[in-house]
Amino acid sequence: MPATAFEVHDMTVAYHRRPVLWDIDFTLPEGKLVGIVGPNGAGKTTLIKAALGLVPLASGKVEIYGKSYAEQRHMVGYVPQRESVDWDFPVTVRDVVLMGTYGKLGWFRRPGRAEREVADRCLEQVGMTALANRQIRQLSGGQQQRVFLARALAQDAQVYFFDEPFSGVDAATEAAIVKLLQSLRASGKTVLLVHHDIQTVREYFDYVILLNMRLIACGPVDTTFTNENLQKTYGGRLTILDEAAEAMRQREPNR
Ligand code: ADP
Repeated sequence: MPATAFEVHDMTVAYHRRPVLWDIDFTLPEGKLVGIVGPNGAGKTTLIKAALGLVPLASGKVEIYGKSYAEQRHMVGYVPQRESVDWDFPVTVRDVVLMGTYGKLGWFRRPGRAEREVADRCLEQVGMTALANRQIRQLSGGQQQRVFLARALAQDAQVYFFDEPFSGVDAATEAAIVKLLQSLRASGKTVLLVHHDIQTVREYFDYVILLNMRLIACGPVDTTFTNENLQKTYGGRLTILDEAAEAMRQREPNR
């Protein structure tokens, strides 16, 4: 039996006393790629933020390998939405990736040669070596996402949370990201990611979390990603078709 990497019990999260996630309960084994899927406003980002202690829980608990996030933060990597970050900040690509190694360094130690080597290796893995010295404000959307990814790799975490890593990236970058996610899985990491394209869920993920303020279902894609569960998640067939058409348009903008 694989270990349990991530577990949520009876979790309710509220903003200004208005619950946006109700009574969420699920368990995920390690070594899986997990899609978090649901309509806008379903609470997908909130689920990640709650797992990372960035928003308080009204009730319930979250555990990473059987312990609280506070105890396990060194095991957790987080890639926020690209739009949520200030890309005008005057740092280079290499600096950002180097920051990924800080968690392992502890207080008062500056990154040295070993950390720089890790950062450079991670940049190479995402095909960004040539841009290592570039200011981050000069990057395209896809390049920004690759930098984020390299930083997450440099963290060498056990459980990763990605918030919409494919948003605004081209097909080549999406394919490169998927390959990296698969290599993380191959080394036993657990990766959860907020995902919008229901067309690719079966192809990309082992497990899926279907969310719409409440947990609709969580489990292996084969048995969980059913039409019936999708209808429960999106509230009707038409919505699903709209979402599918939108996803197609985003993937193939010239059609
Ligand atoms: P999703 O990621 O599925 O689109 P979110 O987790 O971003 O959903 O949001 C869930 C709900 O919580 C939405 O109704 C959203 O408006 C609300 N919400 C998100 N962040 C905040 C916040 N900081 N303050 C108040 N309401 C919020």
